[in-house]
Amino acid sequence: MGQATRTTKLLLDLGKRDQGGANTDKQAALTATVEVLNRARAFYIHFFLAHPDKLAERVSYFSEKHQEGRERLISPNELLTWAEALTVSTRSHPHPLPSYNFSDQFPEFPFIYRRSVIKDAIGKARSYLSHLTNWKASGKNKGQPGLPGATNHPTLYDEAFRLDLDGTDLRPNPRTCFARLKIYTGTAWEWQNYPVNLNRYFEARWRDPAWENQSPKLILRKHSAALHFPQVKEVKAKKVKESKGDPHLVTVAVDLNVKNLAVITVRQDGRIIETAFVTDHGLDRHRYGHLKCIAKKQWQSGTPVKGEHSNQQIWRHVRRMNEDAADKVARIIADVCAKYPGCVLLFERLRKIKPTGRSKSARMNRRQANQLRGKINHSSKDKTYAVCNTVTVEVNPHGTSQYCSRCGAKGERFSHRGGKRITEKWGKLFFCPVCHYVANADFNASVNVHRSFYREWHWKLRDKPPRHRLLESQP
Ligand SMILES: [Zn+2]
Repeated sequence: MGQATRTTKLLLDLGKRDQGGANTDKQAALTATVEVLNRARAFYIHFFLAHPDKLAERVSYFSEKHQEGRERLISPNELLTWAEALTVSTRSHPHPLPSYNFSDQFPEFPFIYRRSVIKDAIGKARSYLSHLTNWKASGKNKGQPGLPGATNHPTLYDEAFRLDLDGTDLRPNPRTCFARLKIYTGTAWEWQNYPVNLNRYFEARWRDPAWENQSPKLILRKHSAALHFPQVKEVKAKKVKESKGDPHLVTVAVDLNVKNLAVITVRQDGRIIETAFVTDHGLDRHRYGHLKCIAKKQWQSGTPVKGEHSNQQIWRHVRRMNEDAADKVARIIADVCAKYPGCVLLFERLRKIKPTGRSKSARMNRRQANQLRGKINHSSKDKTYAVCNTVTVEVNPHGTSQYCSRCGAKGERFSHRGGKRITEKWGKLFFCPVCHYVANADFNASVNVHRSFYREWHWKLRDKPPRHRLLESQP
């Protein structure tokens, strides 16, 4: 049993007032809410960092399972109760610590927000402390972890948020709908209605019975605000060990590259039954152009100013192109997997294509290409797991692109340029000197990924050709 997750976004309408958008007061209130929550988070991070021993406290308890007394780390819920008792004044604890009097500094702070902030602070403080211990143990001078930041997107739990999509008939316009949020106006905490941009995609995802909705996060940006709903689904998937016992198991192998973003091959009973090439449609070239422009600008403007990010718009454009490409490739891979229920998806453990190159822009481009491959890998895993319950396996990438997928001999790569055949390391085509097999190099690598999964020793010369000859399908 596993769990798949996804995020469904709902935009708050911050458009013009006469077109149904939220007014400026409400927009300012959102900013004020995020800001006051950040301050509260900073308060608790400071509080927990001042009590590092408490975070590491061991609690003894009686284990029903083992029928004996045991010790464990103090849980976040226990820490929360402890922190509230010390910082919040209640009837049973009228006098909180004078230096950490939360009730005094944040009057009438809703308890649900306070709890979410404390939980956040516990996570941040613990992570900082463990990084710090690791850094001290490593004995390095560089790389001291910085103090944790207090900013985060607020989580809206049930008591601070309401979204009612069922009163549809009462609305004057079926697309008008409101989300009720508990927000801080700068002086007091109030419930306010915010118009949302409802659409049928959101409604379909929100109402999908297979997915369980969790508390949304408020993502506030410069010109937009949105609610991000995490959704989870229970997934029943076979263990890979069980799948491997199936003699007619279908495996889907993906080789990730730069120009061919993904080469997908499907294998059953030792035969390749489907092949798909996903090219980048000139993305690499396009990105290279932008990076060249950035490199030139950086060269012209000299030493960069510390703490200032240059060429933000181009970087954003590049990032978005990468994300978009990754999503599209992941969708194609998921569609292939959906055709073969019960299949196993194979990736190579990502090896880095070294960012060495002729120029700075070429190096930057290579780095971006590596990022993109990581993104494709990541989102394909998530998508195939959620859509068709496919389990992903990462296989050993040893030699997949160097050995012949037909006979196992070490081959060479070459390209045709100007009608001549040139042997080079990054050639597009693969040639086997033993069996004279010629194929697209990425296709050859993709077929070898299957062999790596089945432990067929693809780097050893096979005396006889395999019983089922691999189908030499070429685009
Ligand atoms: Zn060969």
